Amino acid sequence: MRIETRVSERVKKIHSSSTLAITSKAKKLKSEGKDVINFAAGEPDFDTPLAIKEQAIEAIKSGFTKYTPTTGIPELRQLICEKFKTNSLSYEPSQIVVSSGAKHSIFNAMLALIDKGDEVIIPSPFWVSYPEMVHVCEGTPRFIKTTAENNFKLSAQELQAHIGPHTKLLVLNSPSNPTGSVYRKEELQELAALCVSKKIFVLSDEIYEHLMYDGLRHVSIGSLGKEIYNLTITVNGLSKSFSMTGWRIGYLGAPADIVEAISKLQDHSTSNPCSISQKAAVAALGMSDEFTKSMAGEFQKRRDYIANRLQSIKKIKFVMPQGAFYVFCDISRTRLPSDVFASRLLQEALVALVPGGSFGRDDYVRISFATGLTHIEKGMDRIEEWIKLL
Ligand code: PMP
Ligand code: GLU
Repeated sequence: MRIETRVSERVKKIHSSSTLAITSKAKKLKSEGKDVINFAAGEPDFDTPLAIKEQAIEAIKSGFTKYTPTTGIPELRQLICEKFKTNSLSYEPSQIVVSSGAKHSIFNAMLALIDKGDEVIIPSPFWVSYPEMVHVCEGTPRFIKTTAENNFKLSAQELQAHIGPHTKLLVLNSPSNPTGSVYRKEELQELAALCVSKKIFVLSDEIYEHLMYDGLRHVSIGSLGKEIYNLTITVNGLSKSFSMTGWRIGYLGAPADIVEAISKLQDHSTSNPCSISQKAAVAALGMSDEFTKSMAGEFQKRRDYIANRLQSIKKIKFVMPQGAFYVFCDISRTRLPSDVFASRLLQEALVALVPGGSFGRDDYVRISFATGLTHIEKGMDRIEEWIKLL
Protein backbone atom coordinates (compact mmCIF):
# COMPACT_ATOMS: atom_id res chain seq x y z
CA MET A 1 0.00 0.00 0.00
CA ARG A 2 1.39 3.38 -0.96
CA ILE A 3 1.92 5.76 1.90
CA GLU A 4 -0.45 8.38 0.40
CA THR A 5 -3.38 5.98 0.44
CA ARG A 6 -3.01 4.84 4.05
CA VAL A 7 -4.75 7.88 5.51
CA SER A 8 -8.28 8.76 4.37
CA GLU A 9 -8.86 11.61 1.95
CA ARG A 10 -11.17 13.09 4.57
CA VAL A 11 -8.38 13.46 7.11
CA LYS A 12 -5.75 14.51 4.58
CA LYS A 13 -7.74 17.69 4.05
CA ILE A 14 -7.46 18.84 7.65
CA HIS A 15 -4.68 20.59 9.54
CA SER A 16 -3.78 20.19 13.19
CA SER A 17 -5.03 22.90 15.57
CA SER A 18 -2.59 25.80 15.71
CA THR A 19 -4.19 27.19 18.86
CA LEU A 20 -3.58 23.95 20.72
CA ALA A 21 -0.11 23.46 19.20
CA ILE A 22 1.16 26.94 20.08
CA THR A 23 -0.37 26.85 23.56
CA SER A 24 1.35 23.56 24.35
CA LYS A 25 4.63 24.80 22.87
CA ALA A 26 4.48 27.88 25.13
CA LYS A 27 3.63 25.73 28.17
CA LYS A 28 6.53 23.36 27.36
CA LEU A 29 9.03 26.21 27.03
CA LYS A 30 7.83 27.56 30.37
CA SER A 31 8.19 24.16 32.05
CA GLU A 32 11.78 24.05 30.75
CA GLY A 33 12.43 27.23 32.67
CA LYS A 34 12.22 29.68 29.73
CA ASP A 35 10.75 33.03 30.65
CA VAL A 36 8.01 32.89 28.02
CA ILE A 37 4.99 35.17 28.16
CA ASN A 38 2.03 33.16 26.95
CA PHE A 39 -0.37 35.29 24.93
CA ALA A 40 -1.49 32.19 23.03
CA ALA A 41 -3.64 30.48 25.63
CA GLY A 42 -7.28 29.94 24.78
CA GLU A 43 -8.23 29.12 28.34
CA PRO A 44 -8.84 31.18 31.47
CA ASP A 45 -5.86 31.21 33.82
CA PHE A 46 -8.10 31.00 36.92
CA ASP A 47 -8.37 27.83 38.97
CA THR A 48 -11.62 25.85 38.80
CA PRO A 49 -13.63 26.85 41.92
CA LEU A 50 -13.09 24.55 44.92
CA ALA A 51 -16.80 23.73 45.32
CA ILE A 52 -16.76 22.20 41.83
CA LYS A 53 -13.64 20.15 42.53
CA GLU A 54 -15.10 18.88 45.79
CA GLN A 55 -18.19 17.63 44.01
CA ALA A 56 -15.98 15.69 41.61
CA ILE A 57 -14.01 14.16 44.48
CA GLU A 58 -17.28 13.19 46.11
CA ALA A 59 -18.42 11.57 42.84
CA ILE A 60 -15.26 9.45 42.75
CA LYS A 61 -15.56 8.46 46.42
CA SER A 62 -19.19 7.49 46.11
CA GLY A 63 -18.49 5.33 43.06
CA PHE A 64 -20.16 7.54 40.48
CA THR A 65 -17.66 6.17 38.01
CA LYS A 66 -19.75 4.14 35.57
CA TYR A 67 -21.50 4.81 32.27
CA THR A 68 -24.31 7.34 32.43
CA PRO A 69 -27.05 7.93 29.84
CA THR A 70 -25.31 8.95 26.58
CA THR A 71 -26.74 12.46 26.50
CA GLY A 72 -25.98 13.23 30.15
CA ILE A 73 -27.43 12.64 33.62
CA PRO A 74 -31.01 13.92 34.12
CA GLU A 75 -30.11 16.44 36.84
CA LEU A 76 -27.48 18.05 34.61
CA ARG A 77 -29.78 18.23 31.59
CA GLN A 78 -32.43 19.79 33.82
CA LEU A 79 -29.96 22.41 35.08
CA ILE A 80 -28.91 23.15 31.49
CA CYS A 81 -32.56 23.82 30.62
CA GLU A 82 -32.72 26.26 33.54
CA LYS A 83 -29.55 27.93 32.29
CA PHE A 84 -30.96 28.24 28.76
CA LYS A 85 -34.03 29.96 30.25
CA THR A 86 -31.71 32.83 31.19
CA ASN A 87 -31.12 33.18 27.41
CA SER A 88 -34.92 33.15 26.82
CA LEU A 89 -34.52 29.72 25.26
CA SER A 90 -36.98 27.08 26.24
CA TYR A 91 -35.64 23.55 25.81
CA GLU A 92 -36.93 20.35 27.39
CA PRO A 93 -34.31 18.08 29.00
CA SER A 94 -34.90 15.70 26.07
CA GLN A 95 -33.59 18.46 23.77
CA ILE A 96 -30.20 18.65 25.51
CA VAL A 97 -27.06 16.67 24.68
CA VAL A 98 -24.08 16.93 27.01
CA SER A 99 -20.77 16.12 25.31
CA SER A 100 -17.02 16.09 25.95
CA GLY A 101 -16.52 19.83 25.50
CA ALA A 102 -18.26 22.39 23.30
CA LYS A 103 -15.87 21.39 20.51
CA HIS A 104 -17.42 17.93 20.62
CA SER A 105 -20.94 19.43 20.65
CA ILE A 106 -20.12 21.47 17.53
CA PHE A 107 -18.61 18.46 15.80
CA ASN A 108 -21.68 16.37 16.63
CA ALA A 109 -24.00 19.06 15.29
CA MET A 110 -22.06 19.31 12.03
CA LEU A 111 -21.97 15.52 11.59
CA ALA A 112 -25.71 15.39 12.18
CA LEU A 113 -26.49 18.14 9.67
CA ILE A 114 -23.97 18.13 6.85
CA ASP A 115 -24.00 15.84 3.83
CA LYS A 116 -21.33 15.64 1.17
CA GLY A 117 -21.54 18.77 -0.97
CA ASP A 118 -23.49 20.85 1.54
CA GLU A 119 -22.16 24.35 2.01
CA VAL A 120 -21.50 25.88 5.41
CA ILE A 121 -21.17 29.63 5.71
CA ILE A 122 -18.40 30.69 8.07
CA PRO A 123 -17.81 34.40 8.67
CA SER A 124 -14.07 35.07 8.53
CA PRO A 125 -12.03 35.53 10.75
CA PHE A 126 -13.20 32.28 12.34
CA TRP A 127 -12.26 29.94 15.14
CA VAL A 128 -9.71 27.47 13.75
CA SER A 129 -11.76 24.31 14.16
CA TYR A 130 -14.92 25.23 12.20
CA PRO A 131 -13.58 24.75 8.65
CA GLU A 132 -11.71 21.60 9.60
CA MET A 133 -14.86 20.07 11.05
CA VAL A 134 -16.77 20.93 7.88
CA HIS A 135 -14.07 19.15 5.87
CA VAL A 136 -14.35 16.03 8.00
CA CYS A 137 -18.09 16.04 7.29
CA GLU A 138 -17.26 16.34 3.56
CA GLY A 139 -19.05 19.65 3.36
CA THR A 140 -17.69 22.83 1.76
CA PRO A 141 -16.85 25.85 3.90
CA ARG A 142 -17.91 29.16 2.31
CA PHE A 143 -16.08 32.01 3.96
CA ILE A 144 -17.48 35.51 4.09
CA LYS A 145 -14.82 38.07 4.83
CA THR A 146 -15.84 40.53 7.53
CA THR A 147 -13.89 43.72 8.14
CA ALA A 148 -12.54 45.74 11.03
CA GLU A 149 -14.69 48.67 9.81
CA ASN A 150 -17.79 46.59 10.56
CA ASN A 151 -16.36 45.22 13.84
CA PHE A 152 -15.86 41.88 12.08
CA LYS A 153 -19.58 41.24 11.97
CA LEU A 154 -21.55 39.68 9.14
CA SER A 155 -24.47 41.72 7.82
CA ALA A 156 -27.68 40.20 6.44
CA GLN A 157 -26.87 41.71 3.01
CA GLU A 158 -23.48 40.00 2.93
CA LEU A 159 -25.07 36.74 4.01
CA GLN A 160 -27.75 37.01 1.35
CA ALA A 161 -25.12 37.47 -1.36
CA HIS A 162 -23.44 34.19 -0.41
CA ILE A 163 -26.45 31.93 -0.03
CA GLY A 164 -26.74 29.37 -2.81
CA PRO A 165 -28.78 26.24 -3.53
CA HIS A 166 -26.41 24.07 -1.44
CA THR A 167 -26.21 26.31 1.63
CA LYS A 168 -27.22 24.29 4.67
CA LEU A 169 -25.75 25.95 7.72
CA LEU A 170 -24.46 29.27 9.07
CA VAL A 171 -21.93 29.24 11.90
CA LEU A 172 -22.20 32.19 14.30
CA ASN A 173 -19.88 32.83 17.21
CA SER A 174 -20.76 35.72 19.51
CA PRO A 175 -18.73 36.78 21.43
CA SER A 176 -16.18 35.82 18.83
CA ASN A 177 -12.88 34.03 19.00
CA PRO A 178 -10.60 35.59 17.68
CA THR A 179 -12.08 39.10 17.24
CA GLY A 180 -14.06 39.63 20.45
CA SER A 181 -16.95 41.06 18.46
CA VAL A 182 -20.48 40.77 19.83
CA TYR A 183 -23.67 40.80 17.76
CA ARG A 184 -26.48 43.12 18.84
CA LYS A 185 -30.08 41.93 18.96
CA GLU A 186 -31.12 43.89 15.84
CA GLU A 187 -28.23 42.43 13.84
CA LEU A 188 -29.20 38.92 14.89
CA GLN A 189 -32.84 39.61 14.06
CA GLU A 190 -31.88 40.48 10.48
CA LEU A 191 -29.70 37.39 10.11
CA ALA A 192 -32.42 35.23 11.66
CA ALA A 193 -35.11 36.53 9.29
CA LEU A 194 -32.92 35.67 6.32
CA CYS A 195 -32.05 32.19 7.62
CA VAL A 196 -35.75 31.52 8.20
CA SER A 197 -36.74 32.68 4.72
CA LYS A 198 -33.96 30.61 3.08
CA LYS A 199 -34.35 27.65 5.49
CA ILE A 200 -30.76 27.64 6.65
CA PHE A 201 -29.72 26.12 9.97
CA VAL A 202 -27.72 28.19 12.45
CA LEU A 203 -25.05 26.79 14.71
CA SER A 204 -24.73 29.39 17.45
CA ASP A 205 -21.51 28.94 19.43
CA GLU A 206 -22.08 30.88 22.66
CA ILE A 207 -19.14 29.55 24.67
CA TYR A 208 -17.91 33.07 25.58
CA GLU A 209 -21.36 34.26 26.61
CA HIS A 210 -20.33 35.25 30.13
CA LEU A 211 -17.17 37.03 29.13
CA MET A 212 -18.57 40.30 27.84
CA TYR A 213 -17.53 43.85 28.64
CA ASP A 214 -18.88 47.38 28.92
CA GLY A 215 -22.22 46.14 30.27
CA LEU A 216 -23.22 44.51 26.96
CA ARG A 217 -25.84 41.78 27.09
CA HIS A 218 -25.62 38.48 25.26
CA VAL A 219 -28.46 37.54 22.89
CA SER A 220 -29.09 33.97 21.72
CA ILE A 221 -30.27 33.95 18.11
CA GLY A 222 -32.52 30.94 18.82
CA SER A 223 -34.55 33.07 21.24
CA LEU A 224 -35.69 35.44 18.48
CA GLY A 225 -38.84 33.58 17.41
CA LYS A 226 -40.25 30.13 16.93
CA GLU A 227 -39.10 29.72 13.34
CA ILE A 228 -35.45 30.52 14.01
CA TYR A 229 -35.60 28.41 17.19
CA ASN A 230 -36.55 25.43 15.01
CA LEU A 231 -33.45 25.99 12.86
CA THR A 232 -30.94 26.71 15.63
CA ILE A 233 -28.49 24.54 17.50
CA THR A 234 -27.31 26.47 20.54
CA VAL A 235 -23.91 25.39 21.84
CA ASN A 236 -22.41 26.33 25.16
CA GLY A 237 -20.18 24.78 27.81
CA LEU A 238 -18.31 25.17 31.07
CA SER A 239 -14.74 25.54 29.80
CA LYS A 240 -14.68 29.32 29.71
CA SER A 241 -17.37 30.39 32.18
CA PHE A 242 -16.17 28.20 35.06
CA SER A 243 -12.55 27.82 33.99
CA MET A 244 -13.06 24.10 33.40
CA THR A 245 -11.23 23.52 30.10
CA GLY A 246 -9.73 20.20 31.19
CA TRP A 247 -12.99 18.73 32.51
CA ARG A 248 -14.43 18.51 28.97
CA ILE A 249 -18.08 19.41 29.40
CA GLY A 250 -19.99 21.12 26.61
CA TYR A 251 -23.64 20.94 25.70
CA LEU A 252 -26.19 21.90 23.10
CA GLY A 253 -29.90 22.51 22.86
CA ALA A 254 -31.65 21.77 19.56
CA PRO A 255 -34.90 20.67 17.93
CA ALA A 256 -35.90 17.08 18.80
CA ASP A 257 -35.00 15.46 15.45
CA ILE A 258 -31.47 16.89 15.55
CA VAL A 259 -30.99 15.86 19.16
CA GLU A 260 -32.08 12.35 18.26
CA ALA A 261 -29.51 12.22 15.44
CA ILE A 262 -26.74 13.56 17.69
CA SER A 263 -27.63 11.12 20.42
CA LYS A 264 -27.22 8.20 17.98
CA LEU A 265 -23.84 9.54 16.89
CA GLN A 266 -22.67 9.91 20.45
CA ASP A 267 -23.94 6.40 21.31
CA HIS A 268 -21.47 5.01 18.82
CA SER A 269 -18.57 7.38 19.32
CA THR A 270 -17.85 8.54 22.86
CA SER A 271 -20.99 7.44 24.77
CA ASN A 272 -21.53 9.70 27.78
CA PRO A 273 -19.14 12.50 28.74
CA CYS A 274 -17.06 11.70 31.87
CA SER A 275 -19.39 10.84 34.78
CA ILE A 276 -17.21 12.69 37.30
CA SER A 277 -17.10 15.84 35.18
CA GLN A 278 -20.87 15.71 34.85
CA LYS A 279 -21.21 15.81 38.66
CA ALA A 280 -18.76 18.71 38.71
CA ALA A 281 -20.90 20.44 36.07
CA VAL A 282 -23.98 20.03 38.27
CA ALA A 283 -22.08 21.84 41.03
CA ALA A 284 -20.98 24.58 38.62
CA LEU A 285 -24.42 25.28 37.21
CA GLY A 286 -25.87 25.28 40.72
CA MET A 287 -23.41 27.96 41.88
CA SER A 288 -24.11 31.68 42.09
CA ASP A 289 -22.65 33.74 39.24
CA GLU A 290 -20.14 35.39 41.60
CA PHE A 291 -17.09 33.46 40.30
CA THR A 292 -17.87 34.04 36.62
CA LYS A 293 -18.64 37.71 37.20
CA SER A 294 -15.43 38.37 39.07
CA MET A 295 -13.43 36.58 36.36
CA ALA A 296 -15.15 38.69 33.68
CA GLY A 297 -14.35 41.83 35.72
CA GLU A 298 -10.69 40.84 35.82
CA PHE A 299 -10.66 40.20 32.05
CA GLN A 300 -12.15 43.63 31.45
CA LYS A 301 -9.30 45.27 33.42
CA ARG A 302 -6.75 43.34 31.37
CA ARG A 303 -8.46 44.20 28.10
CA ASP A 304 -8.41 47.88 29.02
CA TYR A 305 -4.75 47.71 29.93
CA ILE A 306 -3.74 45.92 26.70
CA ALA A 307 -5.84 48.28 24.59
CA ASN A 308 -4.14 51.21 26.19
CA ARG A 309 -0.69 49.81 25.49
CA LEU A 310 -1.54 48.79 21.92
CA GLN A 311 -2.75 52.29 21.14
CA SER A 312 0.81 53.56 21.47
CA ILE A 313 2.28 50.93 19.13
CA LYS A 314 2.13 52.52 15.69
CA LYS A 315 2.63 49.31 13.73
CA ILE A 316 -0.41 47.61 15.27
CA LYS A 317 -4.09 48.43 14.75
CA PHE A 318 -6.97 46.71 16.50
CA VAL A 319 -10.69 46.82 17.15
CA MET A 320 -11.63 46.96 20.83
CA PRO A 321 -12.92 43.49 21.77
CA GLN A 322 -16.33 43.50 23.43
CA GLY A 323 -16.19 39.92 24.62
CA ALA A 324 -14.02 36.76 24.97
CA PHE A 325 -10.37 37.26 25.97
CA TYR A 326 -8.56 38.00 22.74
CA VAL A 327 -7.39 41.09 20.86
CA PHE A 328 -7.09 40.54 17.13
CA CYS A 329 -4.24 42.75 15.96
CA ASP A 330 -3.67 44.04 12.44
CA ILE A 331 0.08 43.70 11.81
CA SER A 332 0.04 44.60 8.11
CA ARG A 333 2.25 47.64 8.75
CA THR A 334 5.08 45.32 9.82
CA ARG A 335 4.89 43.68 6.36
CA LEU A 336 5.44 40.28 8.00
CA PRO A 337 3.17 37.32 7.35
CA SER A 338 1.51 36.27 10.60
CA ASP A 339 3.42 33.01 11.04
CA VAL A 340 6.77 34.76 10.59
CA PHE A 341 5.68 37.51 12.99
CA ALA A 342 4.66 34.90 15.60
CA SER A 343 7.71 32.69 15.30
CA ARG A 344 10.16 35.61 15.33
CA LEU A 345 8.40 37.17 18.33
CA LEU A 346 8.67 33.89 20.21
CA GLN A 347 12.29 33.34 19.29
CA GLU A 348 13.54 36.89 19.65
CA ALA A 349 11.37 38.24 22.48
CA LEU A 350 9.93 35.12 24.17
CA VAL A 351 6.30 36.09 23.64
CA ALA A 352 3.90 33.43 22.30
CA LEU A 353 0.79 34.37 20.33
CA VAL A 354 -1.27 32.78 17.58
CA PRO A 355 -0.77 33.82 13.92
CA GLY A 356 -3.93 35.14 12.29
CA GLY A 357 -3.48 32.90 9.26
CA SER A 358 -5.07 30.09 11.30
CA PHE A 359 -8.18 32.25 11.69
CA GLY A 360 -8.30 33.23 8.01
CA ARG A 361 -6.31 36.50 8.22
CA ASP A 362 -2.60 36.34 7.55
CA ASP A 363 -2.23 40.06 8.26
CA TYR A 364 -3.32 39.64 11.89
CA VAL A 365 -2.15 37.96 15.10
CA ARG A 366 -4.23 37.00 18.14
CA ILE A 367 -3.19 38.11 21.60
CA SER A 368 -4.92 36.29 24.45
CA PHE A 369 -5.26 38.16 27.72
CA ALA A 370 -5.97 34.99 29.69
CA THR A 371 -2.89 35.63 31.78
CA GLY A 372 -2.19 37.84 34.81
CA LEU A 373 -1.64 41.60 34.58
CA THR A 374 2.03 41.44 35.54
CA HIS A 375 2.65 39.01 32.68
CA ILE A 376 0.63 41.19 30.35
CA GLU A 377 2.69 44.22 31.30
CA LYS A 378 5.94 42.36 30.69
CA GLY A 379 4.67 40.89 27.41
CA MET A 380 3.55 44.28 26.13
CA ASP A 381 6.93 45.80 27.06
CA ARG A 382 8.63 43.09 25.02
CA ILE A 383 6.35 43.49 22.00
CA GLU A 384 6.82 47.26 22.07
CA GLU A 385 10.61 46.99 22.11
CA TRP A 386 10.77 44.16 19.56
CA ILE A 387 8.50 45.84 17.06
CA LYS A 388 10.64 49.00 17.08
CA LEU A 389 13.53 46.97 15.71
CA LEU A 390 11.61 45.62 12.71
N1 PMP B 1 -15.83 27.47 20.42
C1 PMP B 1 -14.90 28.42 20.50
C2 PMP B 1 -15.11 29.67 19.71
C3 PMP B 1 -13.77 28.26 21.29
O1 PMP B 1 -12.84 29.21 21.35
C4 PMP B 1 -13.60 27.06 22.00
C5 PMP B 1 -12.36 26.90 22.85
N2 PMP B 1 -11.66 25.77 22.67
C6 PMP B 1 -14.60 26.08 21.87
C7 PMP B 1 -15.70 26.32 21.08
C8 PMP B 1 -14.52 24.73 22.53
O2 PMP B 1 -14.49 24.75 23.91
P1 PMP B 1 -14.43 23.41 24.75
O3 PMP B 1 -14.35 22.26 23.82
O4 PMP B 1 -13.23 23.53 25.62
O5 PMP B 1 -15.70 23.39 25.56
N1 GLU C 1 -10.54 27.77 21.86
C1 GLU C 1 -9.26 28.01 22.39
C2 GLU C 1 -8.39 28.79 21.41
O1 GLU C 1 -8.87 29.24 20.40
C3 GLU C 1 -8.59 26.76 22.90
C4 GLU C 1 -7.85 25.92 21.92
C5 GLU C 1 -8.78 25.27 20.95
O2 GLU C 1 -9.51 24.37 21.38
O3 GLU C 1 -8.77 25.71 19.80
O4 GLU C 1 -7.25 29.00 21.66
